[in-house]
Amino acid sequence: MPVTSANAHAIRGAIARLNDPNCSRFASQIRHTGGCRQPIHLRGKVEHWDKATGTLLHRYSTRLEPDGVLRVPCKTRRASRCPACAETYRADTYHLIRAGLVGGKGVPASVTAHPCLFVTLTAPSFGPVHTRRQHNGSVLPCHPRRDAETCPHGRVQSCTARHGTDDDRLGEPLCPDCYDYTGAVLFNAVAPLLWKRFTDALRRHLAKLGGLTLRDMRDQLVVSFAKVAEYQRRGIVHLHAVIRLDGPAGPISPPPAWVTLDLLTQAVEHAASVVTAKVPSYDGHPERVLRWGTQLDARPITLDGELTDQAVAGYVAKYATKAAESVGTIDRRIVPGEDLAALPVRDHARRLIAESLRLGAFEELAEFRLIHWAHMLGFRGHFSTRSRRYSTTLREIRAERERFVHTEEIAHGRLPLLDEDTVLVISEWEYAGKGYSSGDALVAALDGAQLHGSGGPHDL
Ligand SMILES: [Zn+2]
Ligand SMILES: [Zn+2]
Ligand SMILES: [Zn+2]
Repeated sequence: MPVTSANAHAIRGAIARLNDPNCSRFASQIRHTGGCRQPIHLRGKVEHWDKATGTLLHRYSTRLEPDGVLRVPCKTRRASRCPACAETYRADTYHLIRAGLVGGKGVPASVTAHPCLFVTLTAPSFGPVHTRRQHNGSVLPCHPRRDAETCPHGRVQSCTARHGTDDDRLGEPLCPDCYDYTGAVLFNAVAPLLWKRFTDALRRHLAKLGGLTLRDMRDQLVVSFAKVAEYQRRGIVHLHAVIRLDGPAGPISPPPAWVTLDLLTQAVEHAASVVTAKVPSYDGHPERVLRWGTQLDARPITLDGELTDQAVAGYVAKYATKAAESVGTIDRRIVPGEDLAALPVRDHARRLIAESLRLGAFEELAEFRLIHWAHMLGFRGHFSTRSRRYSTTLREIRAERERFVHTEEIAHGRLPLLDEDTVLVISEWEYAGKGYSSGDALVAALDGAQLHGSGGPHDL
């Protein structure tokens, strides 16, 4: 590490921390955060009082902790912000998705018999982009066109390259000046609405196939799903969803016999093809109707086939921790008046951001809040959502882990074993900051390196 004034400052801070008599408590705190890069600092206390006698049984206060605070994990899902917490989120999501496919976490194993599909809803084309296509294991040329036309900007509309997986051009338009950036941003903006309409249309079509009204269908059948948004390299979201048919009580009840995998496939294909979202006219442009692309993929999930429950759970969990930064945009809001030319992004992402900001200025498009979501290239939906009865919840999985830690702490004598009926617990917490000073980050990294053998969670 070259010595700069910044890391000299960090080293001084680290030495001060290591010389602090409370340092081992600091080390213990950071281990409890599981390598969180930006722990939340809490100040407060917990008291256990005997309800009958009014005596104080046990008291914990952060007053004696290093710097008077307790450091707890930030719990972000975004890998770009905190790899350690995102990993926890990913693992929790994996178990949650998998429980909905094979049972566990309160879901019976009989759920495997319910019709279930893994569906990918894609965006339409907004102009040709460099792509990597494969056939029987060999990479095909990108866009080979004999007698290809030259566009008005003088670019030949053909590309014969066989792109590698890490080729920077992947997802970028053959001609950025011809590419429909407006359409791309507007599609991202309406994707959450298209998803909502897709689920409504799916329920309606299932009811129709069963000869039922929507209301009557609810007594027989529940559509459960877990969905995740993924940015394609061209900067447009597409959605992956596990869609499962249950009986009226959710995964614990079998769906009616007339419900089959074929019926579900038919209803998914129908719903994906019929739903639309309208973008109002603005600035002299006519109203625009957007819909899903024609490349719908709907595949059954099987325990031992091509698409297994583990593969699907892993896929959904992986994308739940990624946001738009994985396609090269930035991980924060754009500040008004910011110099876009100075952003550390490729030109394609810069153009998508600029187009979001431009469209966001039109009153008619205000509902899409495109200026606010410019760094997400117009998408303002949730990355990962589940219907109420898909399986368990992330909150329940976290609570289960915390109960385990709590039991462990009692077993090791760190917490008193108290009868909850006779004890009054008073806790008071306040937010007291976030993250590490540069010196503390260095100590945390050294500690992580010791724990994990090498490297650790922080690259210095
Ligand atoms: Zn964290
Ligand atoms: Zn190409
Ligand atoms: Zn062109």
